[in-house]
Amino acid sequence: KLHNTILELKGNIRVFCRVRPLLPDDGAATEGAVVSYPTSTESLGRGIDLIQSGQKYPFTFDKVFNHEASQRDVFVEISQLVQSALDGYKVCIFAYGQTGSGKTYTMMGRPEAPEQKGLIPRSLEQIFQISQSLQAQGWKYKMQASMLEIYNETIRDLLSTNRSICSDPTRPESAVSGKQYTIKHDANGNTHVSDLTIVDVSSIAEISSLLRQAAQSRSVGRTHMNEQSSRSHMVFTLRISGVNEGTEQQVQGVLNLIDLAGSERLSRSGATGDRLKETQAINKSLSSLSDVIFALAKKEDHVPFRNSKLTYLLQPCLGGDSKTLMFVNVSPDPSSVGESLCSLRFAARVN
Ligand code: ADP
Ligand code: MG
Repeated sequence: KLHNTILELKGNIRVFCRVRPLLPDDGAATEGAVVSYPTSTESLGRGIDLIQSGQKYPFTFDKVFNHEASQRDVFVEISQLVQSALDGYKVCIFAYGQTGSGKTYTMMGRPEAPEQKGLIPRSLEQIFQISQSLQAQGWKYKMQASMLEIYNETIRDLLSTNRSICSDPTRPESAVSGKQYTIKHDANGNTHVSDLTIVDVSSIAEISSLLRQAAQSRSVGRTHMNEQSSRSHMVFTLRISGVNEGTEQQVQGVLNLIDLAGSERLSRSGATGDRLKETQAINKSLSSLSDVIFALAKKEDHVPFRNSKLTYLLQPCLGGDSKTLMFVNVSPDPSSVGESLCSLRFAARVN
């Protein structure tokens, strides 16, 4: 509760930065390029500096996690926010950054290694545990999950059980199945996507199998379509309806966890056909997201939600008293310093 008060005082948008460890495939040292960030044993600070060609660019965020921060260390800092979805808030947590910066690791992690599980499985486990413990106070919860991908402004259902549709990612799903995935918002601020698979979930085991299914649908796309997953946004949504049988109090919360498309500047020169369309779609939706968050933070009258599928889909969960957290994922690889600078500037704009 105290945490919620602090969030309201400071506005509803937080930005956390996470620097991943250096990997064997990272490039060799680039002259004049340095990424420096907190190296205290607590692996958590607020500042990060980039040095490019001798020029220093300092940034400050709500939190900065260094390469030693574990999945658990990161989750500890967001668990209150996740819990507020059970209290009836609409919550969005995004991962932003260039391809290879650690977005999917942060969100999903490596599910086969328990200590490397990411925010999605950890959040769901926490929500189930707390909802169970609240049963003693008369609370009954119903949870529904959906998972979709937005690629080239087209929605693909990651939980569709129709394998033949999922295995032909070269065509828009609507062309194969006739499914439209039209987004509608009702008067109560609930979002409906026509034809989208919604799954009732009541246990952690069910969720684990859903996440496996979704990861599979996503990787099918990847092998067929040249890393399509890095060119698409993945949106996991958990809807929570709670009713207290004693007091008849009701709550409706939503938790959205979003693994965004890679933010790298794809060069327009030379890109033609599908590649150019893809590039334009990613640039447009990421800049729409930043426009929307910026307009909300500045309390502007007009918020351009309709400029992209992603912002339109999330509209009810971004405005009002909803809570938004953006992870900006950064590679420590000096040869990525230019991209990292772009990512941090993007994040600084919305912070
Ligand atoms: P993205 O989704 O942004 O393209 P990934 O999450 O796939 O990036 O990360 C790229 C690689 O770095 C993967 O092999 C991933 O396992 C690894 N990685 C990313 N972040 C971490 C981290 N904090 N600790 C260990 N390995 C990481
Ligand atoms: Mg990824």
